[in-house]
Amino acid sequence: MNTDHVVIVGGGLAGLFCALKLAPRPVTVISAAPFGQGASTAWAQGGIAAAVADGDSAEAHAADTVAVGAGLVDETIALGIAREAGARILDLLRYGVPFDRDLEGKLAVGREAAHSARRIVHVRGDMAGKAIMSALTAAVRVTPSIRVIEGFSAEALLAEDGAVAGLQLRGVGDVNARPVTIASRAVVLATGGIGHLYAVTTNPAEAGGIGLAIAARAGAVIADPEFVQFHPTAIMVGRDPAPLATEALRGEGATLINEKGERFMLARHPLAELAPRDIVARGVFAEFAAGRGAFLDAREALGARFAKAFPTVDASCIAAGIDPAKQPIPVAPAAHYHMGGIAVDANGRSSLKGLWAGGEVSCTGAHGANRLASNSLLEAAVYAARIAEDIAGHPVNAPARMPMAPVERQDRAMSAPAEKNLRAMMTSHVGVIRDGEHLAEAVRMFACLERDSGNIALRNMATSALLVAASAWARRESRGAHCRLDYPAERPELARRTTTTLAAARQIAAALTERASARTPQPIIA
Ligand SMILES: Cc1cc2nc3c(=O)[nH]c(=O)nc-3n(C[C@H](O)[C@H](O)[C@H](O)COP(=O)(O)OP(=O)(O)OC[C@H]3O[C@@H](n4cnc5c(N)ncnc54)[C@H](O)[C@@H]3O)c2cc1C
Repeated sequence: MNTDHVVIVGGGLAGLFCALKLAPRPVTVISAAPFGQGASTAWAQGGIAAAVADGDSAEAHAADTVAVGAGLVDETIALGIAREAGARILDLLRYGVPFDRDLEGKLAVGREAAHSARRIVHVRGDMAGKAIMSALTAAVRVTPSIRVIEGFSAEALLAEDGAVAGLQLRGVGDVNARPVTIASRAVVLATGGIGHLYAVTTNPAEAGGIGLAIAARAGAVIADPEFVQFHPTAIMVGRDPAPLATEALRGEGATLINEKGERFMLARHPLAELAPRDIVARGVFAEFAAGRGAFLDAREALGARFAKAFPTVDASCIAAGIDPAKQPIPVAPAAHYHMGGIAVDANGRSSLKGLWAGGEVSCTGAHGANRLASNSLLEAAVYAARIAEDIAGHPVNAPARMPMAPVERQDRAMSAPAEKNLRAMMTSHVGVIRDGEHLAEAVRMFACLERDSGNIALRNMATSALLVAASAWARRESRGAHCRLDYPAERPELARRTTTTLAAARQIAAALTERASARTPQPIIA
């Protein structure tokens, strides 16, 4: 298929908002899952951070973002995003998102950890994500300039002479599906995060880092991939992905206790349960590692009000036989958000001509080493709008020459166990607590898979896993969400963002493989 359309890959907030902003320009939106499914956006419970309340300011919002980002937030970018928040909330209201209002009709704002003011715009308690997705989906469906292709996954980005030429797609769920090529000179990747690379995650299965991988494989520069945020309170009831107990519960006074009923966060941080996410995640992880278990206790703070105040969390608990009004909820840290991603400038442009990236797959510099709660939906909306504006100023009408897709061998039979191993290794070796030895082992394994696997989906997952593990290995300090046992302190001389490429990650892997084989005793040949 050859098109003069802008092609957007991803049907979450970033992708749909960008498509709507580009109207009436012709756009094709490709999504692996039908809209409303397979997107983290639909699962967002807290809401969108926006300094819209009296007495709050974009400057205060940006200062909180910078404080949480552990020295790596680009302050100009954070302030720019905070300043555009009001305008993007108005856009969302226009698209039909029914944000909660107070008795005076003003937007109601909630509080979340590490925000110095009440500034989380929400919908019916914890329903923000669902409401955003249903409003945007409805708006997209009635916009004639937007063509929608659901059920197809992008598996390769085709580039010629350093510029984007198109995409290779494949139908989802059909083992024998043949790849389809779509030619385009303007591609926006809005494929979400990488949580599903981990065995324990809050992200949907579609968040397997494929967008990041295909950009890296086409040569795009990647930024800060080592920084992965773990949500401290995923509900552990044997589900994959794990349902989330939103941070807002702790904002309402729910506490974290161990099996003995002790509030373990009191000893770890003055803000206890409302400390930054990475600190709470490590606290929960430590209780687990010590065999004491971790539970979120909302009995006193919410009790009988639980079901009405947090219907989504309540439903997840009740389905697992836990009544959160009367029982503590078992929780564990889970891969939740990727601060790193495809490196983009202030317009969402990547290092590859014709490739833009928005939402969680991108790295704008707004989150640094740790994300402030509810800043991601805001960033997705702000950059989706900026990308649309940037593309509007660029003539990309000329259809691209139909690019040649590489012929791919497919070996789907071996994918399930290999995928399971990869995810297990990400959790155990590249997880909440890291060290050089385990990271090196992971780098070597992912590099082999990324090079040798005949399964393109697995190879893409391994590519993203390799980028995360290699950069985590190379960052010899602890900073924000990146915590290394062998380098427990933050090192001021390393307070800079990472920019890397797949070639650089492969080089790290090659050096580590050489080092490991030099250490392996050689058999004595008589
Ligand atoms: C449980 C949960 C709760 C959260 N709560 C909040 C919150 O309250 N506030 C906040 O700011 N952030 C929150 N976040 C983070 C936030 O939801 C995400 O960062 C944000 O929604 C990402 O939007 P996106 O458009 O980039 O990606 P997504 O919404 O994840 O959409 C990605 C889209 O890309 C598609 N896709 C993926 N790969 C491919 C491919 N290869 N080919 C074709 N299509 C593909 C998917 O099917 C999907 O349509 C939460 C995340 C989770 C998981």
